[in-house]
Amino acid sequence: MEQEVHDKQNKEWIKQELNPILRGNCFAPSTEIIDQIGGTALLSADTDKIKEYVFESAKLPEIRGASMILDYLNQGWPSDNYPNDSQLPSNLREIFLHHGLPTRRSKDDKQDDCIVYAGGGSLLALVPLDLADAIKADIEKIYPDETSAATISCVWQPIAVSDGEGIKFSELMARQSLLLRRAKEEKESLPFFEAIPYSRRCESCQIRPSVGQVPPDGRWLCLPCNKKSFRSRKQGGKKEWAKEFAEELSESNDEWYLNGRTKEYVVKNVEIASEIEKIAYASKDKKSIGFIYADGNDIGKFLDNSKNFSEYKKKSEILHKAVRDSVYKALRFHLKVTQIEVEEIHPFEIVTIGGDDAIIIVPGDRAIDISICIGRTFESYLSEFEEFRGQKVTLSLGLVVADYNNPVYFLLALAEDLLKNAKKKNRECREGAIDFLVIKSQTALSTDLSNLRAHYPWTIESYGEKAILTSRPYTWSKMNELRRTVQEIHKDLPRTQLQALCRSLRKGRRASTMFYRYQWARADNQRKDLLSKIERKWGVESINSPWIKQNPKDGHDCFSTIWEDIRELNDLMPSSNDEIARQELMQQKGHSIGGEQVHES
Ligand SMILES: [Zn+2]
Repeated sequence: MEQEVHDKQNKEWIKQELNPILRGNCFAPSTEIIDQIGGTALLSADTDKIKEYVFESAKLPEIRGASMILDYLNQGWPSDNYPNDSQLPSNLREIFLHHGLPTRRSKDDKQDDCIVYAGGGSLLALVPLDLADAIKADIEKIYPDETSAATISCVWQPIAVSDGEGIKFSELMARQSLLLRRAKEEKESLPFFEAIPYSRRCESCQIRPSVGQVPPDGRWLCLPCNKKSFRSRKQGGKKEWAKEFAEELSESNDEWYLNGRTKEYVVKNVEIASEIEKIAYASKDKKSIGFIYADGNDIGKFLDNSKNFSEYKKKSEILHKAVRDSVYKALRFHLKVTQIEVEEIHPFEIVTIGGDDAIIIVPGDRAIDISICIGRTFESYLSEFEEFRGQKVTLSLGLVVADYNNPVYFLLALAEDLLKNAKKKNRECREGAIDFLVIKSQTALSTDLSNLRAHYPWTIESYGEKAILTSRPYTWSKMNELRRTVQEIHKDLPRTQLQALCRSLRKGRRASTMFYRYQWARADNQRKDLLSKIERKWGVESINSPWIKQNPKDGHDCFSTIWEDIRELNDLMPSSNDEIARQELMQQKGHSIGGEQVHES
């Protein structure tokens, strides 16, 4: 009986409040309606310290498992005919169904949905005011219950405040963000486990005490790591992203990726990499990986500037698809099914694709091309939508290339720093940008990025001027240009000469300018043409070459150079036979090369 009243009330709420609000018709229903159905709350939630949880263990199965658990909680579909009496909710959508609220049950479900946005660990939803507290409590309970380690912060505000004028959407959203930020700041980090002396530490995260040996390999794991490991084993190692990726392959367009196999064969037989080492195996040196962290610029602000919830929803859906499609396309174009002994694998790991960001691990030699393809595809994809014409939405990206045996959380920290640099560049020139770092030895890791680049061998100070041995970060168009320059160099300038030039750069500006002039004088006409072409393209004045004069900083003359960047990229380039074959195939298919491709509709 009580349930019936409840259901009736919810139905009334959907009709009178949810639908009009979603369509942007009103923020403020009449007092009468509020009395009758209780008004509406805008509820949002965001997972706390999401990357710490995902990357606390360096092992791929646990990283993957953690990300799968969070994705399921955040974006998972309800199980069939949920809710049953006995079943407690196991993800966000089931929580809404549990309270009798409307939400879609699958990707193609067209029914009303009180969820405005769910992705990247966050949630935005409209709920009846009198249910807001109960839903908040359920959301905040389910995360620690399911993970034993991760928490989520949830806040709400009533949005039907008066009969009068509704407030502006952007103000409403700004207030909501502020509430959420405060809730996160106030939250104390609650320890889930006491560190018991003499207990055996978890072999995976090395953080918490283990609770016992876990099959099948008998590792000593803590409870959260055990849950992660269980989750990634339960799915038979097939992570959703890779599965989805494989299912979308098309025989006619993805010949390169399929590598002589049919699509059906790939979907059925090709596995995801069980260890990071296997992704590295697909690189030409068989040991390097690229850790890519891509993130849309100022997306929060962009979405908050929508006119209403319906526009917000539409924009965020397009954004999510833009990230997803750009990542998939870059992987399809630049990688291929890889055979390691008897095993056939997809040589990548999609750690996460959120609403506007992505973290992926790829073979080291392909990482630059994949990054360029992601950045450029994302931007060209969005430019085709009406909603994105007024304001250009761009993407920044941080990339670290390193040996696979470096700790993953270390690569993440560096990629985050690089991403920050790229974002700084974006603020300066209003274009999406990339910053990257190639790590040769582990000693380079002893200091953080800004420290690393402020000193020799990155910055040389002499005669009261600063010479910086890089021109990073690059905007996407410049990065693409650099990639092309590298391709020309690759053909026409021997590697030993390039290395000698870079050695001279480290001796300072005067020594390297002398070296460069000497090489120039000895060069044949073809080489001179190549060098002048590069100088023109990059705005190098002959008098300064191989350096580019920058604006003075702190009263010092400043110079930078592209040659060290060229050398690193040149060393990274995939083996030439392979690359030529790939490019020929792409050209046959009508795709242009060098990350230039725009998305096919
Ligand atoms: Zn652990």
